[in-house]
Amino acid sequence: VALTFDDGPHPTVTPQILDILQKYDVQATFFLVGQRVQQHPEIVQRIVEEGHEIGNHTWSHPNITTLPINGVQQEFIKTNEAIIAATNYAPTVFRPPYGATSDTLEKLLPIPSVLWSIDTLDWQHRDPQQTIAIVNKHLHNNAIILMHDIHQPTADALETIILNLQHANYDCVTASEILL
Ligand code: ZN
Repeated sequence: VALTFDDGPHPTVTPQILDILQKYDVQATFFLVGQRVQQHPEIVQRIVEEGHEIGNHTWSHPNITTLPINGVQQEFIKTNEAIIAATNYAPTVFRPPYGATSDTLEKLLPIPSVLWSIDTLDWQHRDPQQTIAIVNKHLHNNAIILMHDIHQPTADALETIILNLQHANYDCVTASEILL
């Protein structure tokens, strides 16, 4: 399964998530918002140094299906440039905010979009027990699990989620490893 974290980096929550991932030697994928990359490049460097995958999640988190083509391109390119400036690494995966995309946009963007198969709704209920329960209920092989590293309850849920995955003999891989 792939653990994926969207909308960061966040100055206090993302480091806690990285600490837990490091403790259990688990790799994850972080879909980063460009303007937050610009604010916290040192956290993005840490994500890459610790072997996680990073993806482009646009500059300002718009619904890109409502933007003109050049607006989408700007959202994509500015974010890639901020990530490259912070890490010397260019993302190979994209995640459209809200999962909102189209065939036209998929053809326009140079890297594939990765959506998800388990939505924890962590941003909505903000309850670690619900996040844990939703993952357990829907867990399947090659699952791509959507969470957000900008909410403290998500960090609070992570250790139990990883222990449950390990107990059920699931390996944690990056989003691209499942996509490919
Ligand atoms: Zn998002």
